Amino acid sequence: IAIALLLRSQKRLAEGLRRHACEDALTGVGNRRMLFEAITSLLASGARQHALILIDVDHFKHINDQGGHPFGDHVLMELAKALRNTAPEQAGVYRYGGEEFAVLCPGFDETAALALAQQLRSAVRNLHFDLDGHREQVTISLGVCPLSHSPAAESSAWVQAADRALYQAKKNGRNRVEAADGLRRPGAQAAADGNPETRPESLY
Ligand code: GH3
Ligand code: MG
Ligand code: MG
Repeated sequence: IAIALLLRSQKRLAEGLRRHACEDALTGVGNRRMLFEAITSLLASGARQHALILIDVDHFKHINDQGGHPFGDHVLMELAKALRNTAPEQAGVYRYGGEEFAVLCPGFDETAALALAQQLRSAVRNLHFDLDGHREQVTISLGVCPLSHSPAAESSAWVQAADRALYQAKKNGRNRVEAADGLRRPGAQAAADGNPETRPESLY
């Protein structure tokens, strides 16, 4: 019995350590390290039709200022849940940094990736975040890069290309999707749901 108990506790410890190494502690989605591991194994698989979406919450500092850090944390948790619930199962959702997320889309062509990005944008736009008397809505900006539009089939080049698209989304007004260089522009977006984002003072 003692040996069985010892083995069980070791197994739990190993599982805990593995989770700790892979999962983002706040939101429960994969962490940045997992994202890069997933990209590396996707690139190694040989297939070339995949897409990457990078996401940054708009004016997140304002959310923290309004409701405090715990409210900001609550928004991040709920937002991660919404991304996970909106993305199809084969897509991986990761927390890339503080208020930045990534969605890795195996098998997605540019049309499918742009459509998913718009779905994610609109799902977040429709959420209400409530905690301890604070109630806010947030928007996200998204950069989409199909692997075919990455300057190299290499993880850092691909992530940088998606990040440049995200930067464009910020620059072009936030609450919007932009595609990596060379792709057609995603259609009507922020204007369609009455985008109130007009503050141009900072980029992400
Ligand atoms: P922009 O629209 O340009 O992206 O504006 P922003 O305010 O989101 O700008 P920025 O990316 O510079 O700010 C991100 C903020 O996110 C700053 C940081 O305090 C906050 N943040 C990062 N990680 C966490 C976290 O885990 N919890 C909370 N509550 N806040 C966080
Ligand atoms: Mg931000
Ligand atoms: Mg940011």
